[in-house]
Amino acid sequence: MGAKKGGKGDADRRPGRRALLIGAAAVVVGGAALERSGLSRLWWRLPGAQKPRVQGAVDFGGARWVEASPANYRRADRPDDYRIDRVVVHVTQGSYASAVKVFQDPGHKAAAHYIVRKDGHVTQMIRELDVAFHAGNREYNERSVGIEHEGFVEDASSFTDAMYAASARLTARICARYGIPVDRRHIIGHAEVPGADHTDPGRHWDWDRYLRLVRAARTTRT
Ligand SMILES: [Zn+2]
Repeated sequence: MGAKKGGKGDADRRPGRRALLIGAAAVVVGGAALERSGLSRLWWRLPGAQKPRVQGAVDFGGARWVEASPANYRRADRPDDYRIDRVVVHVTQGSYASAVKVFQDPGHKAAAHYIVRKDGHVTQMIRELDVAFHAGNREYNERSVGIEHEGFVEDASSFTDAMYAASARLTARICARYGIPVDRRHIIGHAEVPGADHTDPGRHWDWDRYLRLVRAARTTRT
């Protein structure tokens, strides 16, 4: 979410043609990935097949599961159908409770995978398997995991030590899981998404500190 620059929607329920092509290319060149994971996951590539899911399961240990409205994301089988190579940082422009509420609202047409509260509590609302509508850009939605942070872009006090620490642990795990480099090309703000009409996380978000914490969390493997 975040402060809006303009008025563009996030309605991108259909996979883009480019993404489908990327997916096909991944099948062809993904020999190493197949080797690593074994042949057992090949059946997921059959039309209509989806990975088995456990109700209430989370991708990040310690996260609490609160399901978003299915209208705010698209079911997918990432990273098999779409490669995940970005983490997008957002600021909610409101309270944690209001963010949870709008992500449960089918009329909102947007939601992120995670919300990090001021006290460091992490809520997951969409599985990383699925494409959340958070970036305002279909291709970036398909390739990224979106993390919301409770607070306001213009209020530096929104971004607490506990929030930075918890979010960095979360991003470190996401980067490790999908082999995403820990740098500013791959860990970006919503405002840096091509065509973005939002300004979050804004000038008070301390990127140097955040990347330092992500790198530290990566080596300690919390
Ligand atoms: Zn945002």
